[in-house]
Amino acid sequence: AGQRLAGKTILITGASAGIGQACALEFALAQPHDLRLILAARRVDTIHEIAAAITKQVGDGVKILPLQLDVSKPDEVRTFVGKLPDEFKNIDILVNNAGGVRGVETAGNIAEDDINVMFDTNVTGLINVTQAVLPIFFARPDGGAGDIVNIGSIAGREPYAGGSIYCATKAAVRSFTDSLRRETIHTKIRVMEIDPGATETEFSVVRFRGDKAKADATYAGMEPLTAQDIAEVIVFNVTRRQNVVIADSLIFPTVQA
Ligand code: NDP
Repeated sequence: AGQRLAGKTILITGASAGIGQACALEFALAQPHDLRLILAARRVDTIHEIAAAITKQVGDGVKILPLQLDVSKPDEVRTFVGKLPDEFKNIDILVNNAGGVRGVETAGNIAEDDINVMFDTNVTGLINVTQAVLPIFFARPDGGAGDIVNIGSIAGREPYAGGSIYCATKAAVRSFTDSLRRETIHTKIRVMEIDPGATETEFSVVRFRGDKAKADATYAGMEPLTAQDIAEVIVFNVTRRQNVVIADSLIFPTVQA
């Protein structure tokens, strides 16, 4: 299936950690001979380290462009496509992964800044990156072609106490993804949603504002997924035959309450 990735250019947002980082490696392993990866995040130094590690592992058949991009900054998102080197301009696959959670306060107590960061990143950021990339897809024959993979969450389907804003952002991602899929139904653009369950990354520690003990407690009685587990599903989904779209994937650890 890695053959279907040959010659492709893939943009992954939030590639400096967790699922995005794992996704970069998984794509590189699937097509080590002829692939271009644009790895975007705010921590571009970390991206450079990740890029070097991938090149060391798979060789230079995978060309990597580290890109400093804060998806919550509309000006940065509006201009990055125009600034891409020619070799990386023709994006085929967009993985909208950048996102996160801030705190577990109840709806009445959550700080305005936390609300804004979550919506600006998880929702508006994802929409803005999509809008920046769609013209590349629409410029292709037959009304357009390309893949968009949006990372939602189980939280978008099953809201939990203390998660009102985060859950609302992920419900918004789900709704946006579904509309976009319907809007592009007469093209060869494939729009896919991936909803992970409990996955052990920096995410859980950030949720509890750095309290590792509380983060670990959320995994009591279960073995969480790894970022690689999610990355494997993403690579599988985008390497199906062009006429197949796995529109919706919900991924749990086998034991998750
Ligand atoms: P991590 O915290 O490990 O990674 C988050 C990534 O997003 C980092 O690379 C971070 O990079 C990037 N990011 C955050 N804000 C921005 C921004 N404004 N602009 C660009 N990049 C940004 O979390 P995960 O890997 O777990 O999360 C990835 C996605 O998966 C998120 O959308 C999350 O909501 C979702 N998810 C995670 C689950 C879990 O249990 N872990 C479960 C369900 C969904 P940097 O800080 O360098 O910008």
